Amino acid sequence: MKLCVVGTGYVGLVAGTCFAESGNDVICVDNVAAKIDALKQGKVPIYEPGLEELIRRNTTEGRLTFSTDLADAVRKSQVCFIAVGTPTGHSGGADLSAVMAVGREIARAMDGYRVVVTKSTVPVGTWAQLHSVMAPLTTQEFDIVSNPEFLKEGAAIDDFMKPDRVVIGSISPKAVEIMRELYEPFVRTGNPIITMDNTSAEMTKYAANALLATRISFMNEIANLCERAGADVDQVRRGIGYDRHHFLFPGVGYGGSCFPKDVRAVITTAREHGMEFPLMAAVEDVNEAQKHRLVLKVVDEFGPNLTGKHFAVWGLAFKPRTDDMREAPSITVVEGLLKRGGSVAVHDPEALHEARKLFGERVSYHRVNYDALQGADALLIVTEWNEFRRPDFPRMRQLMRRPMILDGRNLYEPDVMREHGFTYLPIGRTPVRLATA
Ligand code: NAD
Repeated sequence: MKLCVVGTGYVGLVAGTCFAESGNDVICVDNVAAKIDALKQGKVPIYEPGLEELIRRNTTEGRLTFSTDLADAVRKSQVCFIAVGTPTGHSGGADLSAVMAVGREIARAMDGYRVVVTKSTVPVGTWAQLHSVMAPLTTQEFDIVSNPEFLKEGAAIDDFMKPDRVVIGSISPKAVEIMRELYEPFVRTGNPIITMDNTSAEMTKYAANALLATRISFMNEIANLCERAGADVDQVRRGIGYDRHHFLFPGVGYGGSCFPKDVRAVITTAREHGMEFPLMAAVEDVNEAQKHRLVLKVVDEFGPNLTGKHFAVWGLAFKPRTDDMREAPSITVVEGLLKRGGSVAVHDPEALHEARKLFGERVSYHRVNYDALQGADALLIVTEWNEFRRPDFPRMRQLMRRPMILDGRNLYEPDVMREHGFTYLPIGRTPVRLATA
């Protein structure tokens, strides 16, 4: 394939070189002439293990060239990567001026269909902005692909040649196919190419970095606490590093007998050692707020006064396969509905006896999940019991007064819910709203 990569920094130069190494014809473009001159003479402006040798081989074999002439490169390429910098701007957000400038230049130069790929890290929605900047400048068809890069400096070649995963975000099947073909040689060991829409791809990069940054800050605070408490953070690190659980599913907040009390204990231990642990305090705050999410969504739908409204709640235990309701989010949910005047019917495969101790006669209890749905204005799902995953949706619709599900565990696919005629409000996914509901 013929490609150009605009921006010959850590990302652009590595990406361009690795694409050449896998047999493509690549033109690396930069607007700093001195950089391009140096590269043409075999001088590599950055240090990255293995890069110089790869550049030498691919330039010698004619697959990799360097240029300052962006328009010429675009005319010779089917796919154009934008890999310029996106530094922090005045407002604290990313400065997209270089990305947009390159987009304009690409648009003006296109003489046929092009796939334009943002490899730079760009905020959510940039792809649409880029499209609207480019569209008035060309009569040619083009698709924008959001293809965030996850390489680490110092191991960039290895990361690019053998990525953990490749994220391809585009709403164009044609562009996705071209990108798949391009990345196929890099995922021969079976690592996934994950395709999604542009917006989610843009968010994925920020979510990944925010998660890593949070982990680093978390470990730094643990290290500070270790110093004071006389523990060795390196041993602690090894003790937690083998955890196989990833805990990446969003929901209605954690509960149970461990996380809430242990988080509080860490905050307290830190205080006892004369330090604050703001990250843990924030974790607790976020979790508390999250437990109210479902009821706030109910209020959005029905207003603050729920008198005369009836709700079914499936799942009371703090997680599936237990009857433990200690600090379960379901308590916040049920109490929140009752407090606002709603009536509540609850079902849980194992926790009904625990629930009776908490709610007494204030709710009705149902051994069979469908029985709780009779006359409900909405169903709230709070615990992801397996038996809730494949219910009889037509039967549910018949039983309920309104076909509305607020899913605190993202058990169902929005498209499937639309087909079944439900208003469906999951966590962090696009809701399904029916005009008739
Ligand atoms: P960099 O600053 O090393 O390189 C950017 C290059 O773009 C420079 O050579 C610059 O001269 C060139 N450039 C700027 N404006 C230009 C224009 N109008 N026309 C042509 N060339 C232009 O940046 P980088 O570290 O490679 O990062 C690029 C992007 O990739 C950023 O969005 C960054 O957040 C992201 N990213 C970086 C890393 C990393 O480890 N460095 C990893 C993943 C993603």
